[in-house]
Amino acid sequence: MSAVQRRSGSPLPWLIAGGAVATAWLVWRRMQQPYYPSVALQAGLEMVSRRYRVLAIGPHPGDLEFFCGGTLRLLSQNGSAVTMAVLSRGERAANRANIDEIRTREAEQAAAMLRAELVQLDLPDGEIRPGPALERALDELWVRTRPELVLAFDPKGPTPLGQNPDHVALGAAVLARARSSIWRGERIYFYAARQPNVLVDVTEVLQEKLNAVKAHRSQLTGPDWAAAYITRYASRLHSGRVPALYTEAFYRLV
Ligand SMILES: [Zn+2]
Repeated sequence: MSAVQRRSGSPLPWLIAGGAVATAWLVWRRMQQPYYPSVALQAGLEMVSRRYRVLAIGPHPGDLEFFCGGTLRLLSQNGSAVTMAVLSRGERAANRANIDEIRTREAEQAAAMLRAELVQLDLPDGEIRPGPALERALDELWVRTRPELVLAFDPKGPTPLGQNPDHVALGAAVLARARSSIWRGERIYFYAARQPNVLVDVTEVLQEKLNAVKAHRSQLTGPDWAAAYITRYASRLHSGRVPALYTEAFYRLV
């Protein structure tokens, strides 16, 4: 086949593929933004400006820092007592000796940067499922912290694709508690929200959030700037039509 013949192929499939990618990207961007941005931003301001006993629960080390580290820092800055509870040690993240100890040390450093207390639990990484072990862990955390404000992973997850079952299990268990009156009365916020109704402007504390994310050095495979870029990008996803540069998104259960 000559070069001329190869070039004469129809561009239509490429146009269709490009259009599909662009549409998917626009839909994804729109999904990350609340329907009423200014109302959501106001709700975010109210969320962080009062003092609470805060219990933020993450399935793995690093989840909380990435999805709501700025919000946790604003809460602690404004006088809330913040507990970051990490269910597993993230021991399956790398085939490396003592990875569990390394990751717990990193989580301790990140929590200290956000002025929060770290509670490290020992559920098995990759095997957190609904059941007695998870329920016991949540009971223990509740008794220990008596939270007025609870943060947990959105059971829907941030996108329709490829949910981590540990994330889903935590979100579903917290949702079930809120629905069944075990945790009724507490303010429940889901981070990594698919359809947020609360936006917290974290621009002021963004550098502290980035430092806390970067404290998880064992998980950063690329250069430092790449981690900062990804975190900044994720923090801009939600602020399409709101007067804030960087935000974190939550779904508040009402
Ligand atoms: Zn995770």
